[in-house]
Amino acid sequence: MERAAEREPVDAARLRELVRDGHAVVLTNSANPPARPCAVGAGLRTKVNANIGTSKDYADLERELRKLAAAEEAGADTVMDLSTGGDITAIRREIIARAEVPVGSVPIYEAGAAAAARGASIVNMTSDDMVAAVRHHMADGISFVTIHCGVTRDVLRTLEESTRVCGIVSRGGTFLARWMTHNGRENPLFERFDELIGMAREYDATFSLGDGLRPGCLADSLDRAQVHELMVLAELRERAVAAGVQVMIEGPGHVPIGQIEAQVKLEKEVCHGAPFYVLGPIVTDVAPGYDHITAAVGGSIAAAAGADFLCYVTPSEHLSLPDEEQVRQGVMAARIAAHAGDIGKGIPGAADWDRRFSVLRRKRDWDGQLEHCLDPAVARKVRESGRPGDDDVCSMCGEYCVFKLADEEEGQSVTGDH
Ligand code: SF4
Repeated sequence: MERAAEREPVDAARLRELVRDGHAVVLTNSANPPARPCAVGAGLRTKVNANIGTSKDYADLERELRKLAAAEEAGADTVMDLSTGGDITAIRREIIARAEVPVGSVPIYEAGAAAAARGASIVNMTSDDMVAAVRHHMADGISFVTIHCGVTRDVLRTLEESTRVCGIVSRGGTFLARWMTHNGRENPLFERFDELIGMAREYDATFSLGDGLRPGCLADSLDRAQVHELMVLAELRERAVAAGVQVMIEGPGHVPIGQIEAQVKLEKEVCHGAPFYVLGPIVTDVAPGYDHITAAVGGSIAAAAGADFLCYVTPSEHLSLPDEEQVRQGVMAARIAAHAGDIGKGIPGAADWDRRFSVLRRKRDWDGQLEHCLDPAVARKVRESGRPGDDDVCSMCGEYCVFKLADEEEGQSVTGDH
């Protein structure tokens, strides 16, 4: 608690109160604590998560370790290992061993991959496979698990009545919905939620209650199926918090810009102030290749409205598995959104950075600016790429630099006064 509070505007005692009330979580794991435990929630800095992990087409551990390094260097507060290709147990363990930040995961991917390895389909996963995967991940040191407990038969009936364009777009949600429909059974993660609570208590791990029915396009946003699932998650969250387990609620996704604030307020009301972890949200569907930007636009508005945790989106979203450069760009875009959101919601100290930086800019203190900006390496590269004739300004305006002209005028008026 003390270590997590070191980088926050609250002390450990206040953080403990926030955790007790379910308004914040500390991402860690008692079996394998991360070097940099991280707090997420009300009154704290908005955090950024970077998703990494293999796919069937790119199942290279070394590549994932490079992505982990890129995410941490760029300033991600957490990473999630979403591997679905290669030896995913070994990959997860290596990522946990190398990561300084808390690592999250979606255990049902492993249950699905295990069924596939047996030559079976995901509909042949057993209920025990799904529950055991959660235990395996926590025992390995995963700090937060996404579990799609809110995809119940009742919620799927609501979905059937809807006219969605994209249907279900969450992988975990799809696995469960297919399994439930094929087997004619209730969601095991919902039915056996008390067992999962016991595991989370044992490892001091956090539940990230997944929104399996999050909208996959603007047209599907905030429909009855999404809201119905949120109501189920709210009930489950209450049970977990009453048992002393930390819980975050996951949110969309693709959201029209005018709905973002309402969706954040809805989650905060219905889930009694539980930390809200949003994916983006992306504010337009039509810009593949730029979805780190569409997500940063939505993420800044969401964070300003009260969202606590932003899952980054990379330029490769909807197109391919990201490489390390795309990971770096995704983290930077999400950090900009998180910081802008922190200024918007008045996190102590957030706006001070901008004020201090603006003084450096006004003074044309180039070394200071390149040292204290969000991404010094890129800022330095851009300045070097367009050097001015006069090092005192930049090549945008050269001798017409307004700050230099103002200084010269002040100098003249000082001289004139004397
Ligand atoms: S030259 Fe123009 S853009 Fe560059 S620092 Fe001066 S005012 Fe700003």
